[in-house]
Amino acid sequence: MLPYGRQSIEQSDVDAVVAALSSDWLTTGPRVAEFEADLERVAGAPCVTVTNGTTALHAAYAAAGIGPGDEVVTTPMTFVATASGAAMLGATVVFADIDEDTANLDPAAAEAALTARTRAIAAVDYAGVPADYDRLRKLADTTGAVLVADAAHAIGSVYRGRPVGSIADLTTFSFFPTKNLTTAEGGAVASIRPELLDRVRTFRTVGMVKKPELLHRPDEGRWFYEVHEFGLNYRLPDVLCALGSAQLRRLAGFKARRQQLTARYDELLAGVPGLKLPVTPDDVDPMRHLYPVRILDGRRREVFERMQAAGIGVQVNYIPVYWHPVFEELGYRRGMCPVAESFYAEEISLPLFVDLSDADQDRVIETLRGILGS
Ligand SMILES: *Cc1c(COP(=O)(O)O)cnc(C)c1O
Repeated sequence: MLPYGRQSIEQSDVDAVVAALSSDWLTTGPRVAEFEADLERVAGAPCVTVTNGTTALHAAYAAAGIGPGDEVVTTPMTFVATASGAAMLGATVVFADIDEDTANLDPAAAEAALTARTRAIAAVDYAGVPADYDRLRKLADTTGAVLVADAAHAIGSVYRGRPVGSIADLTTFSFFPTKNLTTAEGGAVASIRPELLDRVRTFRTVGMVKKPELLHRPDEGRWFYEVHEFGLNYRLPDVLCALGSAQLRRLAGFKARRQQLTARYDELLAGVPGLKLPVTPDDVDPMRHLYPVRILDGRRREVFERMQAAGIGVQVNYIPVYWHPVFEELGYRRGMCPVAESFYAEEISLPLFVDLSDADQDRVIETLRGILGS
């Protein structure tokens, strides 16, 4: 079965991991700081690594002080973690509908969802295309909300000349194998606000505070630390950070190949009846994580099943988040975000990954054309 996404591992990645394994550290050694510095060069803001993209969101919301009584406005067209990280902290998630073309949070819908309780606006760079950050920033600033970017799809993407990571107050990344680069499991939070990033760092280190100037009792001794707020152990090990740095050295090549494959899909699927291709706004330079097409005429399920039967691992991204029973039981109802629901009803993600060969991509294209009858 051809997967819809997968990692690209070369000898340079293997060598980096092997070197880490035979060093003095397995976790929280020099490779963590090295990977964080490497990430900063791509993200355009300082970064703290964490165990995955889900915990990156949890840590970001915790650092922003999200809690009971707060509302977090976000998109339903995402992986559940964008919403559940805030819900687990006791906040109320408010879903606002998406833009028809990009499937990103629609700033007008987000604006309509703002209330006096809005504490954060959380956008997602769906498929790697950056959200409309300038408009979302205005909304966040006028309401005093924190702007969060779930950029699990979008490390390496650029919005109006600015790298994703340098725009929102807090940006989260995932390094799951299907994403733009991998550390197996892994993630990071970038922030343009040093005080927020300090809070992320403390949260991912079980809440432990060691800086003498911050201690309530600074004279206990050099072993001493204090916990001022609860945290969790979300540290990314040295061994995985070594893989991350090795992967980052290949990022420009990854982006070029993803762009090439995207251009081939755009060209070779143009004009196929019953099919709508993804649109890229001109003010962004995305590192495409997904190639999401829309299957018209109510044929999505049939096409999905026939592609799978032909050995092509297509995927659906995503089930609207509030459809999950955990949200239904909180009173969320189908129909809330009609644009997202009709997007979901038609969407299929075609295989897109760095080591996808032109020949395999041609087979995907021919199979899809065959099913759609052109
Ligand atoms: C993958 C993903 C996450 C979660 O990342 P993990 O590393 O799998 O925990 C969060 N949000 C979005 C949009 C994702 O695609």
